[in-house]
Amino acid sequence: MKIRAFKQVPRIVFGRGAFAELAELLELYRKTGYITFILDHIHNTTGLLEKIPDNQEDCIFLVDTTDEPTTTQVDELRNSILTAKSSQLPSLVVGVGGGSAMDIAKALSVIMTNEGSSTLYQGWDLVKNDAIPKIAVPTLSGTGAEASRTAVLTGTDKKYGINSDQSMFDLVLMDPDLIENIPNDQRFYTGMDCYIHCVESIEGSFINAFGRAQAKEALEICEKVFLKTGGNNEDLMVASYLGGASVANSEVGVAHAMSYGLSLVLGYHHGLANCIAFNQLEDFYPDYVPTFRNMIKIGNINLPRGVTENISEDDLSAMIAMTKIMERPLTSALGQNWSNILTDEKIRNLYLKM
Ligand code: NAD
Ligand code: ZN
Repeated sequence: MKIRAFKQVPRIVFGRGAFAELAELLELYRKTGYITFILDHIHNTTGLLEKIPDNQEDCIFLVDTTDEPTTTQVDELRNSILTAKSSQLPSLVVGVGGGSAMDIAKALSVIMTNEGSSTLYQGWDLVKNDAIPKIAVPTLSGTGAEASRTAVLTGTDKKYGINSDQSMFDLVLMDPDLIENIPNDQRFYTGMDCYIHCVESIEGSFINAFGRAQAKEALEICEKVFLKTGGNNEDLMVASYLGGASVANSEVGVAHAMSYGLSLVLGYHHGLANCIAFNQLEDFYPDYVPTFRNMIKIGNINLPRGVTENISEDDLSAMIAMTKIMERPLTSALGQNWSNILTDEKIRNLYLKM
């Protein structure tokens, strides 16, 4: 096996009520500057905004996650913070929310110290300077953004990650109490992101023994939680983390490659887009799609159907092109000759079935 060096999140604070520790954890960073908090806008109504231990000099941004994070959004956020603070950098960025808020926090921490647009860093290991330190406080579990080295951003023609050690959190505060009141559908769709990461990791050729162990455990937890045979929110938080970590030692696969097309062109959120795609991928993941369908039934989820019913040829072409950009996941899933297996025609037919 090829030798690999990989970074991990160096510090995790975990347990019910852990959020109360945040003020103390911030002290270390207060000595060197102000703190920027990125909060999902939902926390204006959940009560979490009032509990943020901010000081007068800090900045709090409630980010609208109706749409997934974009390169323009993080570029503008960086510019407005630096303008307001006379180009003084924060000592810390804290991301509070689901994958969207966490990814905005990650991307922001990178482009605070790396010139130009975030689009320059989408890809693998393109970040030059050390990022601003960052903390994640997940309030939705499944993406694994809290553990991964990716910050996924949508641009004009592609949805793509900043994949770098610089986009990993320095500390993750995991408090299962924060994921207690999520609407059933959202909890399911984001939870399935974790399940699908694990399936794609385990079934892909890019996985190593580390990733396999992480993915296997996370997969088992997801099945317990969503088949309702045991497993609670504490377990789900751990699964999300392990699923995200496993992707660093593997790759995603066909479901993610297709889900990115659904998100880019039709605007479906990641977790839901994954579910819509995965539901049609029995040919590629025959051991898992039936279990997934069972989880849908047990969870009482109404997965949207016919999402491509009225799609234009141009949109369909853009979705096919998006899928084909995902070369790494497709190579891991199907081998070097993936384009002979997943032809344009095949991608097209799969999309039309969704
Ligand atoms: P999200 O962050 O987009 O949030 C979805 C919805 O849940 C939003 O409406 C939000 O307001 C709401 N929400 C969040 N916390 C809540 C709470 N405690 N109670 C009630 N509602 C709450 O959803 P997500 O599925 O976590 O993240 C999706 C994003 O993550 C996508 O942009 C995707 O590309 C990205 N992603 C990143 C990685 C990575 O490794 N960085 C991996 C997978 C997905
Ligand atoms: Zn995902």
